[in-house]
Amino acid sequence: MPGGGAVGRRGPLPGGADAVYDVVVVGAGVVGCAIARALARYPLRVALVEAADDVGEGTSKANTAILHTGFDAAPGTLEAGLVRAGHRLLSGYAAEAGIPVEPVGALLVAWDEEQHAALPKLAAKAARNGHHATRIIDAAELRRREPHLGPGALAALAVPGESLICPWTTTLAYATQAVLSGVDLHLGCRVTDVVTGPGALHRLTTARGPLSARFLVNACGLHADRFDALLGVRDFTVTPRRGQLLVYDKAARDLVRHILLPVPGPLGKGVLVAPTVYGNVLLGPTAEDLDDRTATGTTAEGLAGLRDRGARIVPALVAEEVTAAYAGLRAATGQEDYRCVARPALRYVTVGGIRSTGLSASLALAEHVLGLLSECGLRTGPEGPLVPVRMPRIGEAFPRPYRDAAAVARDPAFGTVVCHCEHVTRGEVRDALASVVPPAALDGLRRRTRAGAGRCQGTHCRPALRALFEEYGKGAGAR
Ligand SMILES: Cc1cc2nc3c(=O)[nH]c(=O)nc-3n(C[C@H](O)[C@H](O)[C@H](O)COP(=O)(O)OP(=O)(O)OC[C@H]3O[C@@H](n4cnc5c(N)ncnc54)[C@H](O)[C@@H]3O)c2cc1C
Repeated sequence: MPGGGAVGRRGPLPGGADAVYDVVVVGAGVVGCAIARALARYPLRVALVEAADDVGEGTSKANTAILHTGFDAAPGTLEAGLVRAGHRLLSGYAAEAGIPVEPVGALLVAWDEEQHAALPKLAAKAARNGHHATRIIDAAELRRREPHLGPGALAALAVPGESLICPWTTTLAYATQAVLSGVDLHLGCRVTDVVTGPGALHRLTTARGPLSARFLVNACGLHADRFDALLGVRDFTVTPRRGQLLVYDKAARDLVRHILLPVPGPLGKGVLVAPTVYGNVLLGPTAEDLDDRTATGTTAEGLAGLRDRGARIVPALVAEEVTAAYAGLRAATGQEDYRCVARPALRYVTVGGIRSTGLSASLALAEHVLGLLSECGLRTGPEGPLVPVRMPRIGEAFPRPYRDAAAVARDPAFGTVVCHCEHVTRGEVRDALASVVPPAALDGLRRRTRAGAGRCQGTHCRPALRALFEEYGKGAGAR
């Protein structure tokens, strides 16, 4: 659609009560944004509706940032197939769209005889998931590949293809491309009620006024069960499973070369140590089943437990400085698989239970949802090209603007550093504030540029960033 879709986070919805969309996708996490982007290939009127005032404000902003191959998924599940396909699709898309990805590979480390004995079974499971390149390596090779590993590691399963990825840029790339290709993005727009007439339209009540949809997609993450209930559907209950993580300073980066995974247990993938695409090292996550869907705080107990685990995996790591701690909530549903359901009678698709692999699976999930919408009766019309996107370079392994002499010569704003910890320039901040999906606040600016994400956590650059927000962020409310 020429000119792109509307982006707004305040005031009445454009079109008011008469706004009728072919498809409304509710929830602009990585999953909803991927679905909206997939729908944007067709001549359809599509809206992406989000309660928060930015995209990726839920679980999608607080995860472990690994692009999984799906080697350890339960074979034959929907999740196994979609993570595997998603890894392939997102690896290709990341290169095209400028999403930072580093294919460092994983080492699944055995620390005792029981875990050692489990490695061949894990290799066989990987093969059943179509991943035939895993290899068991002995203690000597493991130590050559990871010299800072703690004492007592017996062997490891090497898993090529497991990669580091920037989760923030991924969600933003999907949202940006969706909007450029015609999708309306309604932020600050919680859906509070849905009235569905037989054969007619869904009428949605939102925080910004009413809108109508022929087909509806629930991509509400932690709230997918509550959204289902608005349509009278009661299939599952979401139990938030919290994952707390520690981010170590960039000085620790040389201590770790691969994603260091434990042999998985009943509560999931377990605690890992991994580099990040921003040049830090992550330790986490915990796995705690809670009742509170807003409990994204960290706890002294949780972080102390992580340090204990980290001290065993890479002892030198825990002596390094911690840059930040955060927590995310997985949308667990008591079933070790996704809960993706088409309900043709309601012209409604639920995309639920996307627990710990949704970032990796996102592009494949979106294609799967197109199929479910077709089962519901959606006729998309002919497929067309999406408007291409090229995202800002915020990964450490890629030339950053402050180091790019040609960029600085073209525009001196790329030579003026405003965030000294992360080397973020005035030009990058300015461009983020004027982007297709601009940030609503400093936290959103951090996810787009890394400004304020470093050692001082914004203590030094916050006033300058606020001033730039004032200067360039006037259009951040709406476009
Ligand atoms: C600790 C942790 C580590 C993880 N590590 C990885 C990893 O390494 N690799 C990987 O692939 N995956 C990982 N995951 C999983 C991944 O982060 C999730 O699967 C993914 O982010 C889920 O995205 P989503 O879009 O479904 O949900 P969310 O990102 O939560 O998005 C849902 C959105 O719906 C909105 N919403 C809800 N209700 C309404 C309503 N009524 N009206 C409007 N909007 C609404 C919310 O505001 C929210 O923005 C991890 C998760 C956690 C918690």
